[in-house]
Amino acid sequence: VTTPYEEIDTPALIIDLDAVHANIAEMAAMAAGNGVRLRPHIKTHKMPELARLQLRAGATGITCAKLGEAEVMADAGCDDILLAFPLWGRPKLDRLRALRERARVRVSLDSVEVAEQVGTVGRRTPVEVLVEVDTGLGRLGRPPGAPSAELVREIARVPGVEVMGLLTHAGHSYKTTSEAQLRQVAEREVTDLVETAELCGGLAEISVGSTPTARHAATVPGVTEIRPGTYIFNDAAMLRLGLATERTVAARILATVIARPAPDRFVVDAGSKALTSDGVGVRDWIVVVGRPELHMAFLSEEHGVGRSTPGQGPAIGERLELIPSHACPVVNLFDLAYGVRGGSVDSELLVAARGKVR
Ligand code: PLP
Repeated sequence: VTTPYEEIDTPALIIDLDAVHANIAEMAAMAAGNGVRLRPHIKTHKMPELARLQLRAGATGITCAKLGEAEVMADAGCDDILLAFPLWGRPKLDRLRALRERARVRVSLDSVEVAEQVGTVGRRTPVEVLVEVDTGLGRLGRPPGAPSAELVREIARVPGVEVMGLLTHAGHSYKTTSEAQLRQVAEREVTDLVETAELCGGLAEISVGSTPTARHAATVPGVTEIRPGTYIFNDAAMLRLGLATERTVAARILATVIARPAPDRFVVDAGSKALTSDGVGVRDWIVVVGRPELHMAFLSEEHGVGRSTPGQGPAIGERLELIPSHACPVVNLFDLAYGVRGGSVDSELLVAARGKVR
């Protein structure tokens, strides 16, 4: 029994299923057209049903950040998983060992220390690893070229691991302000890895591709795999980058106007506990669907405060769809999403891997 759209209680996470299907198909066709494998990052949706859709559309495996996500997805039948996160500590190594019993698992890492830990799990069959390279984000990895090639050589000597290739995440692409800049980041993402791999005598896997860079990176010679995640839903960050339109944004927060305290002010029942504080400070970091005249001003925990031209705002009781600044952490706040098609609820989707921070 599903809930009619009009009866969905708010705040609620709603997913436009037509947009999801179109986004999945577009990225899959783009990857296939360029002859690269697609390994979507599932931290965006955390929903087994959507991972299955991605695999059915041609994804060759999935990417997870957390073992907990990987365990949920393995339960759902995903059998080829990249854990793009350095693992540390006995509890995680025990879980990695168990996970390898039921799925092909690769791990990315950027130190000899982590490789030595992971290697303890690979005494019989070495654990396949990707060495992470820093192509500009400044998060994980050594710089490309000699420093990373040296690290690859050191990790290759660690018992129990097998270096399959290189990985990078160009998260700094979110800060680009032009198509040319974005293309440059995407090209560098690949060429830095290809050049590093050459210094290592060649490596099988060159794994790149955030949502902003994937479509460019897939065209650069040498790339073997792309790992976009956000593309399945899109968000206000993708609108700002010009990579999405309201129609292609699939994840929205349905909220109700619960107050009109001043002629130019309205308040909805979705605050930072439904939308997160991600992106605060950026103009229109949250977008009201179909209502360009409405602008969100600030969020407290349970209240979303918006502004309109005096006297022209929404009435108390009106429902608004809000596009979050960043879809991934918003989805992580909900147990359930409503899959909506043509204005009515089609299905309820379990966000089975939500809260899996370990
Ligand atoms: N790969 C890694 C290692 C990531 O950290 C992320 C996102 O954080 C992605 C892929 C997917 O990037 P995006 O969210 O831009 O799709």
